[in-house]
Amino acid sequence: MALYVHKYGGSSVADAEKIVNVARRIAGVHHAGHQVVTVVSAMGETTDALIDLAHTVATEPDPRELDFLLSTGELVSITLLSMALRNLGYDAISLSGAQAGIRTDSTYGKARISDVDPDRIQRELASGRLVIVAGFQGLTPDEDITTLGRGGSDTTAVALAAALHADRCDIYTDVEGIYTADPRAVPAARKLAEVGYQEMLELAAAGAKMHPRSIELGAVYNVPIYVASSFSDAPGTLIHQGPDNRNMEDRIKVTGIAYQYNIAKVTVRGVADQPGVAAALFEPLAEAGISVDTIVQNTSVDRTTTDISFTVTTPDLPRALREMAALEPMLGTSSIMSDDTLASVSVVGSGMQNAPGYASRMFRILADGGINIDMITTSEIRISCIIGQDHAREAVRLLHEGFQLDEAG
Ligand code: ASP
Ligand code: MG
Repeated sequence: MALYVHKYGGSSVADAEKIVNVARRIAGVHHAGHQVVTVVSAMGETTDALIDLAHTVATEPDPRELDFLLSTGELVSITLLSMALRNLGYDAISLSGAQAGIRTDSTYGKARISDVDPDRIQRELASGRLVIVAGFQGLTPDEDITTLGRGGSDTTAVALAAALHADRCDIYTDVEGIYTADPRAVPAARKLAEVGYQEMLELAAAGAKMHPRSIELGAVYNVPIYVASSFSDAPGTLIHQGPDNRNMEDRIKVTGIAYQYNIAKVTVRGVADQPGVAAALFEPLAEAGISVDTIVQNTSVDRTTTDISFTVTTPDLPRALREMAALEPMLGTSSIMSDDTLASVSVVGSGMQNAPGYASRMFRILADGGINIDMITTSEIRISCIIGQDHAREAVRLLHEGFQLDEAG
Protein backbone atom coordinates (compact mmCIF):
# COMPACT_ATOMS: atom_id res chain seq x y z
CA MET A 1 0.00 0.00 0.00
CA ALA A 2 1.38 3.32 -1.07
CA LEU A 3 0.56 6.79 0.25
CA TYR A 4 -0.02 9.52 -2.30
CA VAL A 5 -0.69 13.21 -1.96
CA HIS A 6 -2.89 14.53 -4.78
CA LYS A 7 -3.31 18.22 -5.53
CA TYR A 8 -6.06 19.63 -7.73
CA GLY A 9 -5.84 23.26 -8.83
CA GLY A 10 -8.66 25.79 -9.16
CA SER A 11 -9.50 24.89 -12.77
CA SER A 12 -9.86 21.20 -11.81
CA VAL A 13 -12.53 22.00 -9.20
CA ALA A 14 -14.13 24.94 -11.00
CA ASP A 15 -17.71 23.60 -10.88
CA ALA A 16 -19.86 20.81 -9.42
CA GLU A 17 -19.25 18.45 -12.32
CA LYS A 18 -15.48 18.87 -12.05
CA ILE A 19 -15.58 18.31 -8.29
CA VAL A 20 -17.43 15.02 -8.84
CA ASN A 21 -14.82 14.11 -11.47
CA VAL A 22 -12.06 14.69 -8.89
CA ALA A 23 -14.00 12.63 -6.34
CA ARG A 24 -14.10 9.74 -8.82
CA ARG A 25 -10.37 9.98 -9.45
CA ILE A 26 -9.62 9.88 -5.72
CA ALA A 27 -12.00 6.93 -5.31
CA GLY A 28 -9.97 5.18 -8.02
CA VAL A 29 -6.75 5.52 -6.01
CA HIS A 30 -8.56 4.16 -2.95
CA HIS A 31 -9.84 1.17 -4.96
CA ALA A 32 -6.33 0.44 -6.15
CA GLY A 33 -5.55 -0.13 -2.45
CA HIS A 34 -3.65 3.07 -1.69
CA GLN A 35 -3.97 5.81 0.88
CA VAL A 36 -4.48 9.31 -0.44
CA VAL A 37 -4.42 12.81 0.99
CA THR A 38 -5.92 15.36 -1.40
CA VAL A 39 -5.06 19.06 -1.41
CA VAL A 40 -7.36 21.41 -3.31
CA SER A 41 -7.29 25.05 -4.38
CA ALA A 42 -10.29 27.37 -4.36
CA MET A 43 -12.83 26.85 -7.15
CA GLY A 44 -11.92 28.57 -10.44
CA GLU A 45 -11.18 32.27 -9.98
CA THR A 46 -12.58 32.40 -6.43
CA THR A 47 -9.41 33.85 -4.90
CA ASP A 48 -9.39 36.74 -7.41
CA ALA A 49 -13.07 37.38 -6.67
CA LEU A 50 -12.40 37.46 -2.91
CA ILE A 51 -9.54 39.93 -3.38
CA ASP A 52 -11.82 42.16 -5.45
CA LEU A 53 -14.52 41.87 -2.81
CA ALA A 54 -12.10 42.98 -0.10
CA HIS A 55 -11.26 46.06 -2.16
CA THR A 56 -14.92 47.05 -2.33
CA VAL A 57 -14.87 47.80 1.40
CA ALA A 58 -11.28 48.94 1.95
CA THR A 59 -8.64 50.65 -0.20
CA GLU A 60 -5.89 48.69 1.51
CA PRO A 61 -7.45 45.64 3.18
CA ASP A 62 -5.91 44.69 6.52
CA PRO A 63 -3.46 41.83 5.81
CA ARG A 64 -4.70 39.58 8.63
CA GLU A 65 -8.32 40.00 7.66
CA LEU A 66 -7.52 39.56 3.96
CA ASP A 67 -5.75 36.24 4.56
CA PHE A 68 -8.62 35.07 6.74
CA LEU A 69 -11.04 35.98 3.94
CA LEU A 70 -8.95 34.30 1.21
CA SER A 71 -8.68 31.10 3.25
CA THR A 72 -12.45 30.65 2.89
CA GLY A 73 -12.10 29.93 -0.84
CA GLU A 74 -10.33 26.66 -0.14
CA LEU A 75 -12.79 25.80 2.66
CA VAL A 76 -15.58 25.81 0.09
CA SER A 77 -13.79 23.41 -2.25
CA ILE A 78 -12.60 20.93 0.43
CA THR A 79 -16.04 20.61 2.01
CA LEU A 80 -17.75 20.17 -1.36
CA LEU A 81 -15.22 17.54 -2.42
CA SER A 82 -15.67 15.67 0.83
CA MET A 83 -19.47 15.77 0.45
CA ALA A 84 -19.16 14.51 -3.14
CA LEU A 85 -17.04 11.57 -1.96
CA ARG A 86 -19.48 10.78 0.84
CA ASN A 87 -22.31 10.95 -1.65
CA LEU A 88 -20.50 8.29 -3.69
CA GLY A 89 -20.29 6.14 -0.57
CA TYR A 90 -16.75 6.86 0.64
CA ASP A 91 -15.64 7.87 4.10
CA ALA A 92 -14.00 11.25 3.57
CA ILE A 93 -13.14 14.16 5.85
CA SER A 94 -12.10 17.72 5.02
CA LEU A 95 -9.52 19.60 7.08
CA SER A 96 -8.50 23.26 7.01
CA GLY A 97 -4.77 24.01 6.84
CA ALA A 98 -4.82 24.64 10.59
CA GLN A 99 -6.58 21.34 11.33
CA ALA A 100 -4.14 19.55 9.05
CA GLY A 101 -1.25 20.80 11.21
CA ILE A 102 0.26 23.32 8.80
CA ARG A 103 2.13 25.94 10.84
CA THR A 104 3.53 29.10 9.28
CA ASP A 105 5.27 32.32 10.19
CA SER A 106 3.18 35.48 10.45
CA THR A 107 3.96 37.04 7.07
CA TYR A 108 0.41 37.57 5.84
CA GLY A 109 -0.01 37.15 2.10
CA LYS A 110 3.19 35.15 1.67
CA ALA A 111 3.62 33.08 4.80
CA ARG A 112 6.24 30.35 4.84
CA ILE A 113 5.57 26.92 6.28
CA SER A 114 7.60 26.48 9.46
CA ASP A 115 6.39 23.03 10.45
CA VAL A 116 3.84 20.35 9.65
CA ASP A 117 2.32 18.34 12.49
CA PRO A 118 0.91 15.31 10.66
CA ASP A 119 -0.85 13.73 13.70
CA ARG A 120 -4.42 14.48 12.77
CA ILE A 121 -4.00 13.44 9.13
CA GLN A 122 -2.29 10.22 10.19
CA ARG A 123 -5.12 9.40 12.59
CA GLU A 124 -7.72 9.95 9.88
CA LEU A 125 -5.76 7.84 7.41
CA ALA A 126 -5.40 5.08 9.97
CA SER A 127 -9.16 4.96 10.37
CA GLY A 128 -9.44 4.39 6.63
CA ARG A 129 -10.61 7.85 5.62
CA LEU A 130 -9.93 9.84 2.49
CA VAL A 131 -8.44 13.09 3.76
CA ILE A 132 -9.09 16.37 1.93
CA VAL A 133 -6.91 19.35 2.94
CA ALA A 134 -7.29 23.05 2.12
CA GLY A 135 -4.30 24.27 0.13
CA PHE A 136 -2.64 27.69 0.38
CA GLN A 137 -3.20 28.25 4.12
CA GLY A 138 -1.73 27.70 7.56
CA LEU A 139 -1.76 28.81 11.18
CA THR A 140 0.64 31.19 12.95
CA PRO A 141 1.98 30.57 16.47
CA ASP A 142 -0.71 33.06 17.61
CA GLU A 143 -3.34 30.89 15.90
CA ASP A 144 -4.16 33.33 13.14
CA ILE A 145 -4.85 32.14 9.59
CA THR A 146 -2.26 32.93 6.91
CA THR A 147 -2.01 32.29 3.19
CA LEU A 148 1.16 31.16 1.41
CA GLY A 149 1.06 33.46 -1.63
CA ARG A 150 -0.77 33.05 -4.94
CA GLY A 151 -0.58 29.54 -6.32
CA GLY A 152 0.52 28.27 -2.90
CA SER A 153 -1.49 25.05 -2.90
CA ASP A 154 1.33 23.30 -4.77
CA THR A 155 3.57 24.11 -1.82
CA THR A 156 0.99 22.81 0.68
CA ALA A 157 0.84 19.54 -1.24
CA VAL A 158 4.60 18.99 -1.40
CA ALA A 159 5.03 19.99 2.27
CA LEU A 160 2.41 17.42 3.29
CA ALA A 161 4.01 14.77 1.09
CA ALA A 162 7.35 15.46 2.80
CA ALA A 163 5.90 15.41 6.32
CA LEU A 164 3.88 12.23 5.68
CA HIS A 165 6.77 10.51 3.86
CA ALA A 166 4.40 9.98 0.96
CA ASP A 167 5.54 7.88 -1.99
CA ARG A 168 4.76 10.68 -4.43
CA CYS A 169 3.06 14.03 -4.77
CA ASP A 170 0.75 14.27 -7.79
CA ILE A 171 -0.13 17.74 -9.05
CA TYR A 172 -3.22 17.58 -11.29
CA THR A 173 -3.85 20.59 -13.45
CA ASP A 174 -5.33 21.69 -16.77
CA VAL A 175 -2.22 20.83 -18.82
CA GLU A 176 -0.72 17.38 -19.32
CA GLY A 177 2.68 18.11 -17.81
CA ILE A 178 5.88 20.03 -18.34
CA TYR A 179 6.87 20.69 -21.94
CA THR A 180 10.09 21.48 -23.76
CA ALA A 181 8.54 24.94 -24.33
CA ASP A 182 5.16 26.60 -23.82
CA PRO A 183 2.94 24.65 -26.26
CA ARG A 184 0.98 27.84 -26.98
CA ALA A 185 4.15 29.45 -28.36
CA VAL A 186 5.67 26.34 -29.91
CA PRO A 187 3.23 23.85 -31.44
CA ALA A 188 6.08 21.34 -31.88
CA ALA A 189 6.81 21.31 -28.12
CA ARG A 190 7.07 17.85 -26.60
CA LYS A 191 5.91 16.72 -23.19
CA LEU A 192 8.82 15.72 -20.96
CA ALA A 193 8.57 12.32 -19.28
CA GLU A 194 10.87 13.54 -16.53
CA VAL A 195 12.78 16.62 -15.45
CA GLY A 196 15.25 17.34 -12.62
CA TYR A 197 14.33 19.64 -9.72
CA GLN A 198 16.97 22.20 -10.65
CA GLU A 199 15.89 22.26 -14.27
CA MET A 200 12.26 22.58 -13.24
CA LEU A 201 13.15 25.50 -10.96
CA GLU A 202 14.76 27.28 -13.87
CA LEU A 203 11.78 26.48 -16.08
CA ALA A 204 9.34 27.58 -13.36
CA ALA A 205 11.16 30.83 -12.71
CA ALA A 206 11.22 31.46 -16.43
CA GLY A 207 7.54 31.00 -17.24
CA ALA A 208 6.11 27.51 -16.67
CA LYS A 209 3.25 27.43 -14.19
CA MET A 210 4.19 25.91 -10.84
CA HIS A 211 4.77 27.48 -7.45
CA PRO A 212 8.61 27.59 -7.31
CA ARG A 213 8.62 27.01 -3.54
CA SER A 214 6.99 23.62 -4.11
CA ILE A 215 9.88 22.55 -6.33
CA GLU A 216 12.42 23.78 -3.77
CA LEU A 217 10.68 21.76 -1.07
CA GLY A 218 10.55 18.73 -3.33
CA ALA A 219 14.29 19.00 -3.94
CA VAL A 220 15.17 19.42 -0.25
CA TYR A 221 12.98 16.55 0.96
CA ASN A 222 13.41 14.46 -2.16
CA VAL A 223 9.70 14.18 -2.91
CA PRO A 224 9.01 12.90 -6.44
CA ILE A 225 6.42 15.24 -7.99
CA TYR A 226 4.22 14.03 -10.83
CA VAL A 227 2.48 16.70 -12.92
CA ALA A 228 -0.45 15.56 -15.06
CA SER A 229 -3.91 16.52 -16.31
CA SER A 230 -6.98 16.11 -14.12
CA PHE A 231 -9.06 15.77 -17.27
CA SER A 232 -7.30 12.85 -18.97
CA ASP A 233 -5.24 9.78 -18.25
CA ALA A 234 -2.39 10.84 -20.51
CA PRO A 235 1.01 10.25 -18.89
CA GLY A 236 2.43 13.39 -17.24
CA THR A 237 5.90 14.57 -16.18
CA LEU A 238 7.87 13.28 -13.21
CA ILE A 239 9.97 15.93 -11.45
CA HIS A 240 12.65 14.17 -9.48
CA GLN A 241 16.33 13.93 -8.67
CA GLY A 242 17.55 13.49 -12.29
CA PRO A 243 19.48 13.55 -14.44
CA ASP A 244 21.39 10.57 -13.04
CA ASN A 245 18.45 8.27 -13.59
CA ARG A 246 18.18 9.43 -17.15
CA ASN A 247 19.52 7.67 -20.17
CA MET A 248 22.80 8.89 -21.63
CA GLU A 249 21.33 10.44 -24.78
CA ASP A 250 19.09 12.75 -22.80
CA ARG A 251 21.84 13.86 -20.48
CA ILE A 252 23.68 15.71 -23.18
CA LYS A 253 20.64 17.60 -24.36
CA VAL A 254 18.98 20.88 -23.62
CA THR A 255 15.82 20.12 -21.63
CA GLY A 256 13.64 23.05 -22.52
CA ILE A 257 13.23 26.64 -23.61
CA ALA A 258 11.54 29.06 -21.23
CA TYR A 259 10.44 32.64 -21.63
CA GLN A 260 9.04 35.42 -19.55
CA TYR A 261 7.29 38.55 -20.73
CA ASN A 262 7.06 41.60 -18.50
CA ILE A 263 10.75 42.29 -18.12
CA ALA A 264 11.84 45.88 -17.59
CA LYS A 265 15.38 47.22 -17.64
CA VAL A 266 16.68 50.10 -15.56
CA THR A 267 19.98 51.74 -16.49
CA VAL A 268 21.76 54.06 -14.09
CA ARG A 269 24.34 56.04 -16.03
CA GLY A 270 27.50 57.63 -14.74
CA VAL A 271 27.72 56.24 -11.22
CA ALA A 272 31.08 56.56 -9.46
CA ASP A 273 33.35 53.57 -10.03
CA GLN A 274 34.23 52.97 -6.39
CA PRO A 275 33.54 50.46 -3.61
CA GLY A 276 30.04 50.50 -2.14
CA VAL A 277 28.18 51.87 -5.13
CA ALA A 278 26.50 48.62 -6.17
CA ALA A 279 25.57 47.93 -2.56
CA ALA A 280 24.08 51.42 -2.24
CA LEU A 281 21.99 50.84 -5.39
CA PHE A 282 20.66 47.40 -4.58
CA GLU A 283 20.11 47.59 -0.82
CA PRO A 284 17.06 49.87 -1.11
CA LEU A 285 15.60 47.58 -3.80
CA ALA A 286 16.04 44.56 -1.54
CA GLU A 287 14.46 46.42 1.37
CA ALA A 288 11.52 47.35 -0.83
CA GLY A 289 11.10 43.65 -1.64
CA ILE A 290 11.86 44.16 -5.33
CA SER A 291 13.67 41.20 -6.79
CA VAL A 292 16.31 41.97 -9.34
CA ASP A 293 17.24 39.42 -11.95
CA THR A 294 19.88 40.25 -14.53
CA ILE A 295 22.56 42.76 -13.52
CA VAL A 296 25.18 44.18 -15.85
CA GLN A 297 27.88 46.60 -14.82
CA ASN A 298 30.05 48.03 -17.53
CA THR A 299 33.77 48.37 -17.06
CA SER A 300 34.48 52.06 -16.89
CA VAL A 301 36.71 53.42 -19.60
CA ASP A 302 38.05 56.37 -17.67
CA ARG A 303 37.99 54.61 -14.28
CA THR A 304 35.85 57.30 -12.71
CA THR A 305 32.29 56.45 -13.67
CA THR A 306 30.38 53.41 -14.90
CA ASP A 307 26.86 52.34 -15.96
CA ILE A 308 24.82 49.72 -14.15
CA SER A 309 21.78 48.05 -15.72
CA PHE A 310 19.42 45.59 -14.09
CA THR A 311 16.07 43.98 -14.80
CA VAL A 312 12.93 43.76 -12.69
CA THR A 313 9.44 42.56 -13.60
CA THR A 314 7.33 45.27 -15.25
CA PRO A 315 4.90 45.60 -12.30
CA ASP A 316 7.88 46.41 -10.03
CA LEU A 317 9.30 49.04 -12.41
CA PRO A 318 7.59 52.15 -10.98
CA ARG A 319 8.77 51.30 -7.46
CA ALA A 320 12.29 50.50 -8.67
CA LEU A 321 12.47 53.85 -10.47
CA ARG A 322 11.30 55.65 -7.34
CA GLU A 323 14.04 53.97 -5.30
CA MET A 324 16.66 54.94 -7.89
CA ALA A 325 15.43 58.53 -8.09
CA ALA A 326 15.76 58.82 -4.31
CA LEU A 327 19.43 57.87 -4.64
CA GLU A 328 20.25 60.41 -7.32
CA PRO A 329 21.42 63.22 -5.03
CA MET A 330 23.61 60.85 -3.05
CA LEU A 331 25.18 59.05 -6.01
CA GLY A 332 25.43 62.09 -8.22
CA THR A 333 24.28 60.02 -11.18
CA SER A 334 23.76 61.71 -14.47
CA SER A 335 20.65 59.85 -15.59
CA ILE A 336 18.29 56.95 -15.03
CA MET A 337 16.70 55.29 -18.05
CA SER A 338 14.22 52.47 -18.35
CA ASP A 339 12.72 50.18 -20.97
CA ASP A 340 9.61 48.14 -20.20
CA THR A 341 9.22 46.36 -23.54
CA LEU A 342 11.53 43.42 -22.86
CA ALA A 343 11.29 39.68 -22.39
CA SER A 344 13.71 36.93 -21.44
CA VAL A 345 14.29 33.68 -23.28
CA SER A 346 16.22 30.88 -21.61
CA VAL A 347 17.82 27.64 -22.68
CA VAL A 348 17.67 25.19 -19.73
CA GLY A 349 19.29 21.81 -19.21
CA SER A 350 21.55 20.10 -16.70
CA GLY A 351 23.30 18.61 -19.73
CA MET A 352 24.85 22.05 -20.33
CA GLN A 353 26.88 21.89 -17.14
CA ASN A 354 30.58 21.97 -17.97
CA ALA A 355 29.84 21.62 -21.66
CA PRO A 356 31.08 24.42 -23.91
CA GLY A 357 29.28 25.69 -26.96
CA TYR A 358 25.70 26.11 -25.78
CA ALA A 359 25.92 29.88 -25.32
CA SER A 360 27.48 30.49 -28.71
CA ARG A 361 24.87 28.26 -30.35
CA MET A 362 22.10 30.24 -28.66
CA PHE A 363 23.56 33.57 -29.81
CA ARG A 364 23.99 32.26 -33.36
CA ILE A 365 20.38 31.06 -33.54
CA LEU A 366 19.11 34.45 -32.34
CA ALA A 367 21.45 36.31 -34.69
CA ASP A 368 20.33 34.27 -37.69
CA GLY A 369 16.77 35.16 -36.73
CA GLY A 370 17.70 38.83 -36.75
CA ILE A 371 16.95 39.12 -33.03
CA ASN A 372 19.03 41.58 -31.04
CA ILE A 373 20.28 40.59 -27.57
CA ASP A 374 20.08 43.27 -24.93
CA MET A 375 21.56 41.49 -21.90
CA ILE A 376 22.81 37.99 -21.06
CA THR A 377 22.91 35.98 -17.84
CA THR A 378 23.77 32.41 -17.04
CA SER A 379 23.49 29.91 -14.22
CA GLU A 380 25.11 26.48 -14.27
CA ILE A 381 22.20 25.01 -16.16
CA ARG A 382 20.62 28.03 -17.86
CA ILE A 383 21.53 30.72 -20.38
CA SER A 384 19.13 33.65 -20.60
CA CYS A 385 18.99 36.50 -23.08
CA ILE A 386 16.98 39.65 -22.59
CA ILE A 387 15.41 40.63 -25.93
CA GLY A 388 12.54 42.75 -27.23
CA GLN A 389 9.09 41.50 -26.23
CA ASP A 390 7.96 41.51 -29.86
CA HIS A 391 10.52 38.83 -30.67
CA ALA A 392 9.97 36.56 -27.68
CA ARG A 393 7.70 33.96 -29.27
CA GLU A 394 9.76 33.82 -32.43
CA ALA A 395 12.93 33.41 -30.36
CA VAL A 396 11.45 30.53 -28.37
CA ARG A 397 10.36 28.82 -31.58
CA LEU A 398 13.77 29.28 -33.24
CA LEU A 399 15.66 28.05 -30.17
CA HIS A 400 13.35 25.07 -29.82
CA GLU A 401 14.06 24.12 -33.40
CA GLY A 402 17.75 25.05 -33.25
CA PHE A 403 18.41 22.89 -30.20
CA GLN A 404 16.56 20.00 -31.87
CA LEU A 405 13.71 19.86 -29.42
CA ASP A 406 10.99 19.80 -32.08
CA GLU A 407 8.76 16.73 -32.16
CA ALA A 408 10.51 15.30 -35.22
CA GLY A 409 14.02 16.18 -33.92
N1 ASP B 1 -6.38 29.70 -4.53
C1 ASP B 1 -5.07 30.22 -4.41
C2 ASP B 1 -4.75 31.10 -5.60
O1 ASP B 1 -5.56 31.22 -6.50
C3 ASP B 1 -4.05 29.16 -4.22
C4 ASP B 1 -3.83 28.25 -5.41
O2 ASP B 1 -4.56 28.28 -6.38
O3 ASP B 1 -2.89 27.44 -5.34
O4 ASP B 1 -3.70 31.67 -5.65
MG1 MG C 1 -5.87 29.35 -8.06
